Amino acid sequence: MPDERDECNCGHLARLAEDSREAVQFDTRLNEYHILRKDGSGYSLIYFCPLCGGRAPKSKRDSLFHRLTEAERHRLTEMTKDLRTVQDVIAALGEPDVKGLKLTITTPAKEGQPETTQAYPAMTYSKLSDTAIINVQVYPNDRVGITFQGKPMLAQQTHEFHMAAGTKRPEPEPPQIDTGKRYDVYCIEPNRQSVVYRNARFKRAAALLPHPGGRMHYPDYVELEQANGRSIFLPRSSIFRFCEPGTAVTTEPA
Ligand SMILES: [Zn+2]
Repeated sequence: MPDERDECNCGHLARLAEDSREAVQFDTRLNEYHILRKDGSGYSLIYFCPLCGGRAPKSKRDSLFHRLTEAERHRLTEMTKDLRTVQDVIAALGEPDVKGLKLTITTPAKEGQPETTQAYPAMTYSKLSDTAIINVQVYPNDRVGITFQGKPMLAQQTHEFHMAAGTKRPEPEPPQIDTGKRYDVYCIEPNRQSVVYRNARFKRAAALLPHPGGRMHYPDYVELEQANGRSIFLPRSSIFRFCEPGTAVTTEPA
């Protein structure tokens, strides 16, 4: 049984992730190593270390997204099964929380046809279920396609979801970071060590290159001005804490 293998501790995955020539990336939030697709349309999850064959670290994916129970899936299916048009949806579910989203759907190439990507308007309902988000894609003939996905555990992630779906960023939720102030910013490095950037200033959010597909993707970046005035870009997901410069962080193991 492959699951009985020990976790890799040879460090090869971390080295791959650190090497900018490699397509391997560590996602701190999911605690997963990914192989990024060349066209930027997503990634493949790495399960085993290619060098020692050990297991990749245990994913935190399950703890980040709610899992839908059979009963809830059934309830949502019943709630939406007769909805065929936008009017049906709004009559039954009310106004969506988010409208004007674009969901992009990529159809793989087949016999003489190139790969096509199409963006559909979409609506999202996040308040009709404790654990699921209901996505409604609107097709050109006003027909709809309805999908459910597990809600992220944190509101912050919902926000990123919407951005990843190719929308304009909704109004940022207060309180926002004061970009004039300096902070001690704690981050997780690809080797999973934590480091601190003292007296750094959050300059702005930054995206790595436009994204051809609309699939969920990480990371987006934060431009951080270090104490020496030089900027660096950090994956947003690597930041796990920031505080006023010099703040003593008092934690204890739970
Ligand atoms: Zn290994």
